Amino acid sequence: MTAPAPESHGDPEAGTAPDVAGVVVGWRTWQIRDPDRALLRSPLQVSTEWHGGAPLAAACELRGHPAPDPDCTCGIYAARDPADVGGVGFGRVTLLGCVALWGTVVEGERGWRGGVGQPVVLFCGPALRPEIRAELTASYGVPVHVLPQPVALTVERPGIDRAAERVRSAAEEPGARLLDRAARAFVDAAGAPVREPVRAAPPARRRRRFTVGSAVLAVVGASVLLLPPVAAAPVVTTPQVVSPP
Ligand SMILES: [Zn+2]
Repeated sequence: MTAPAPESHGDPEAGTAPDVAGVVVGWRTWQIRDPDRALLRSPLQVSTEWHGGAPLAAACELRGHPAPDPDCTCGIYAARDPADVGGVGFGRVTLLGCVALWGTVVEGERGWRGGVGQPVVLFCGPALRPEIRAELTASYGVPVHVLPQPVALTVERPGIDRAAERVRSAAEEPGARLLDRAARAFVDAAGAPVREPVRAAPPARRRRRFTVGSAVLAVVGASVLLLPPVAAAPVVTTPQVVSPP
């Protein structure tokens, strides 16, 4: 992946619904710019809209030849590994997902550039509103799974590539059940919040404490406790629980 994909709608008749077998599937991101509208856009070329129920046909905006061309950078981009997707962190809402590519597909070092593409499965962060997620599912006809953390953190998670590869390969096979199972496993792998053992380092060491005059301000979550000056400040383990002196 060397350059943003010049993606745009070309000939509307260039693509037909993917005949699952024979397509190449890779990872990419989409953006939702208007929080009230379930419309996917390319993250780096936000003027490129992906419309539900219709494949996107690439067009070369640089040279005007059929896209993708092996000697150009045009085409619809997809990465083999989610760590290599572009456009994470841009725009208002980022969605991660797998896109099926067909037509002319040019293989690169870390993925592919295709002539026609259509999303196969989508993953959103927890911030996406449920009604927009439901609209996306209805409009694009693909499942939209909710990740327990934003896409930008998910793609950087160590070891996520193994679960991702199972999703990608399942998306290349016919049958929704295998893909659904792999997608749920991907969510689990992306999620699992790191639980700290109860007997971990003393909470007092992890608490930010500021001395203001003779008082101690202990910042615990969103609440600020004004504590009297004492020899040793009470140890606060959670915002609700204060250990005995
Ligand atoms: Zn080109």
